[in-house]
Amino acid sequence: IDATQTSVSRAGRSVEWPKTGNRLATGSEIFGQNVFTLKTLQSALPKPVYARFVQQIKGRQSLDRPTADAVAHAVRVWAQERGASHFTHWFQPQTGTTAEKHDSFLTLKTVFSGGIEETYAIDAFSGSQLLQSEPDASSFPNGGMRSTFEARGYTIWDTTSPMFIRQGPHGTSVLYVPSVFIGYNGEALDEKTILLRSSEVLSNSAVRLLQVLGDRETKRVYATLGTEQEFFLIDRGIYNLRPDLKITGRTLIGTVPPKHQQLEDHYFGQMPSRVLAAIAEAELELYKLGVPIKTRHNEVAPAQFEMAPIFEEASVAVDHNLLTMETLHQVAHRHNLKVLFHEKPFAGVNGSGKHCNWSMSTDQGDNLLDPTLKPETNYRFLLFLVATLDGLYKHGGLLRAAIASASNEHRLGANEAPPGIVSAFLGEHLTEVLDAIEENRDVRNFSQPHLQTVKVGGTVLDLKVSTLPQIARDLTDRNRTSPFAFTGNKFEFRAVGSKQSPSLPVVLLNAAVSASLNAVTEALIAEKGSKPEPSIEDILTVVRRFTAASKLIRFEGNGYSQEWVDEAAKRGLPNIKSAPVAFKQLLEEHNAQLLQSLGIMSAEEVHSRYHILMEKYAKDLLIEANTLKNMVSQGVLPAAFTYRKDLADFLATQKALGLDFENSPEIGVYTKLTAVAKELQASSDKLNSLISQLEKLEGDEAAELAGTELTVAMEDTRSKVDTLESYISDKAWPYPKYTELLF
Ligand code: ADP
Ligand code: MG
Repeated sequence: IDATQTSVSRAGRSVEWPKTGNRLATGSEIFGQNVFTLKTLQSALPKPVYARFVQQIKGRQSLDRPTADAVAHAVRVWAQERGASHFTHWFQPQTGTTAEKHDSFLTLKTVFSGGIEETYAIDAFSGSQLLQSEPDASSFPNGGMRSTFEARGYTIWDTTSPMFIRQGPHGTSVLYVPSVFIGYNGEALDEKTILLRSSEVLSNSAVRLLQVLGDRETKRVYATLGTEQEFFLIDRGIYNLRPDLKITGRTLIGTVPPKHQQLEDHYFGQMPSRVLAAIAEAELELYKLGVPIKTRHNEVAPAQFEMAPIFEEASVAVDHNLLTMETLHQVAHRHNLKVLFHEKPFAGVNGSGKHCNWSMSTDQGDNLLDPTLKPETNYRFLLFLVATLDGLYKHGGLLRAAIASASNEHRLGANEAPPGIVSAFLGEHLTEVLDAIEENRDVRNFSQPHLQTVKVGGTVLDLKVSTLPQIARDLTDRNRTSPFAFTGNKFEFRAVGSKQSPSLPVVLLNAAVSASLNAVTEALIAEKGSKPEPSIEDILTVVRRFTAASKLIRFEGNGYSQEWVDEAAKRGLPNIKSAPVAFKQLLEEHNAQLLQSLGIMSAEEVHSRYHILMEKYAKDLLIEANTLKNMVSQGVLPAAFTYRKDLADFLATQKALGLDFENSPEIGVYTKLTAVAKELQASSDKLNSLISQLEKLEGDEAAELAGTELTVAMEDTRSKVDTLESYISDKAWPYPKYTELLF
């Protein structure tokens, strides 16, 4: 009650917005203030040194010592002018979050003068310190990999992502050096190394296809990524009274109140002012860090919100998504709010996702998945489109593995989020274009007026005269039930979990598409024969072949329906409901082979990742089970006993007074309470024995038990608790309920 009262009477935190002159600064004026941009570096370095630097990072060579020293000096001066006292190699171990260890710029220097030794302090940051450091790597997940190698790990500056400062009170401002984290022999121990590798591979494959098409300009192709981040924000005081939220990030007990999201009154509604203040402060900090946050709005569930940036090159976008999550976490704290990134913090209302909008862009600025650029690039568009579909079809299992976790399991396969079947949605128009090409016929006329109005140049695709109309952006339905939906000029990978790093999903997507781009290129080369460039007929032949081959992955209907589950089974598409089964996809011969042959992950790296994921899965569930066990034995059952005693005392008094206690209304509650409490005790005993069993297991066995029997026992226990909640008086209930948490 105290917490609830405090939560409604909290004074808002006011944040001082920076000024330009005597007016408030605009977004663009604040943007990137704390980022050490190439421009800043250029102005700090002698021209030839800067030129050498650019040459070396462009060629993906390692920096020579003098250049690194010059850059390190420049960035230290810049950082210290902004109050930074420390630097850190900021990296992304396989924990879903980031890691950092701070080193101060303070250095001791010893000089000998006149035979006397003197030590004094200076501030310094050398090129070698900038380039690499050696954190104690033994405490990060490695999936057993490093036992076979040296146990050392290295963090190495990733020059593709700019350095930045995170500011805090004096002594806490730190220069961040975005880094990769690798083992002694270069094994990837992190999420970033594989992302950079996959970006390189994708670029090479795409450039090669473009070259076959006659493109002489494009030297690089980038995977682009825009992450729509969903999350819940709740009062921190109330949050603190829920051990389940604190320990596991989700409620393990509790039910939705009579009103939650069924009136659809939260989506795009006005944000509560405390929430708006917190999000605005987070945006301010993110602007300074060069994170281009663009949108914010209320989401479907009560207390659920979303923020999305402008898309960027994938590796930078991943860094920026992680920064967004960390910043929100810190800023929410200052506003006495708690941000929940868990995919399903509350049963019965919508969960959270991280829609990963993905496309490919050339260094000439062309989006390769944009059909509306120019009619003459439509053939190129079609080739990249069918390559993406082909990749998804052949390696859908990898994408399923990429999004699997104990927490996302509550979304996937549940009736409110993309299902455990990987499929792609294209929209009516594009489907018709591909069907027409496949069937070698004209494109059907669309009768829908909304499609006609956005079309330019007629709707007939006459393949015989080899012209393709401008493909209209499909303004029809946004299919929210597809895990992988084409949305006009990009794919939206909707099944990614809100809590996870977007890195692995992008890596595996890049990998699958790269292999298919290679296959498309080979097919085009074969088709064109000795001609310098493929003809339009050649291209259409290849598009037709790949369209037909990948057709099974395309689904336009309701992905949540039972019909789709049945249909997918008929098509032979796997429906993977649980994370341990999904992780096994990584080990499937054709998937592991793909990653190896492209040089994105070695067999060893694939295995180590698999073990880490399985182990984390079992641990996450074990932590949840233990938390639930404690809440039942220390909170719920004692409350039930106390309440039961109150009722019993009352009934005993009635009896002692010779009153008709057998007809008093308390009897019904007492009887029911007794029965449910007993059932709860039995469920919880079962849970306890499974916990003991699980604690003795390891690896796959642990994950399998956790994903099956343990999960069932937890659900069973929860349902008993939730029944008790409806019998026990509000006052006697030991934890804040959904009503207090969500409203
Ligand atoms: P929509 O309403 O179609 O989902 P938005 O403009 O709201 O589109 O974009 C959603 C997210 O997709 C944003 O983060 C946006 O920057 C991103 N996005 C847009 N175009 C691309 C692209 N070519 N590649 C990757 N992400 C993109
Ligand atoms: Mg969207």
